[in-house]
Amino acid sequence: MEPLRVLELYSGIGGMHYALKGSGIPATVVAAVDINTTANQIYKHNFPDTPLWNKTIEGITLDVFNKLPFDMILMSPPCQPFTRIGLKGDIADPRTKSFLYILDLLPRLSRPPRFILLENVKGFESSSARDCLVKTLTECGYTFQEVMVSPTSVGIPNSRLRYFLIAKLSAENQSTQRSKTPDAFTPPAERESPEQLTDSGPLRPEEDVEGSRVLYKQETTKDAQRKTSQNNDLSVRRIRDFLEPAVDEEHFLLPPRTLLRYALLLDIVQPSCRRSVCFTKGYGRYVEGTGSVLQSCEGTEMEAVFRGLDSLCEEEKLQKLSQLRLRYFSPREVANLMGFPQSFSFPEQTSTRQQFRALGNSLNVEVVVRLLHRLLSL
Ligand code: SAH
Repeated sequence: MEPLRVLELYSGIGGMHYALKGSGIPATVVAAVDINTTANQIYKHNFPDTPLWNKTIEGITLDVFNKLPFDMILMSPPCQPFTRIGLKGDIADPRTKSFLYILDLLPRLSRPPRFILLENVKGFESSSARDCLVKTLTECGYTFQEVMVSPTSVGIPNSRLRYFLIAKLSAENQSTQRSKTPDAFTPPAERESPEQLTDSGPLRPEEDVEGSRVLYKQETTKDAQRKTSQNNDLSVRRIRDFLEPAVDEEHFLLPPRTLLRYALLLDIVQPSCRRSVCFTKGYGRYVEGTGSVLQSCEGTEMEAVFRGLDSLCEEEKLQKLSQLRLRYFSPREVANLMGFPQSFSFPEQTSTRQQFRALGNSLNVEVVVRLLHRLLSL
């Protein structure tokens, strides 16, 4: 098979490129496009031979795209317009402009790509941007599937529920004609749980759970039950397998100030756990909802530390909390949980904060590997 020529849009640190490599599909990335300086430094460091265009997508003309033959587009358009905290600007958000530009170009390309894979956040499935995408793909004669997938479904102990769309140009459209009837599909919004990419294990709901009695550490019975059931799911590997043996634990310990102020908000996991929450770009900087922290002293019982904590003075509180030796995962460990191969590394000039930020914007490589295989067999 001739190597596929791939165009990687919104390339970031190259999560898509790693997935392509990991999939074993013969392919070359003919161009990667992104405007973020740090992400581009990291990309260049890892893929020095790939042409990396440091420009806005909407600044690239149809003519330039037509002169760059490609068979596949991999893309992760900016997700902020579709997240709850991003205020859901959707197509009115200026950050969606480049994506709408791509949709506008697609029918006008002299040779539309045979394959498209798109990744976005949960929330995209019910957006107008998604409707525009589906409309364009249908008009251009693509067959497509939409799925919501989290890395737990490929055995990785990390939640990162994402929307994916894979599309293939129908055979008759690969020459000249456009198909009239779109394929039937179920919008992912109608499904309750993320799709499983493996056959084993029950579906694992990832939705926020509300209500029920608060136990300790502001956790409800439902939270606790969910965590227990995640930790009992043997189809998912343990956190331990993703830790770096030589990590400088002291360097990543949570500072006393953070422990005192935010202890009750932390999502704490032990090496034996089979779960962790999504790592976002604020990891290491903000505490609430940005990713799990690791209890490196496994011998200490967490409940014992948190019980009655409120009644203690600061010094005693700190003394108790320190027994857990809570630390952040290192950027390399976060990369492991995001399925990045060992060959991936950060250039020396990037700070830990920049590394967390770049990873938080990226994707789970293993999940995309599975979807690429599925795309090729559509
Ligand atoms: N899949 C990527 C991350 C994508 S995040 C990875 O693995 O890292 C979205 C990326 O789109 C960001 O890196 C951002 O810099 C880039 N971006 C946003 N708007 C853009 C535009 N108009 N033109 C080019 N790149 C853009």
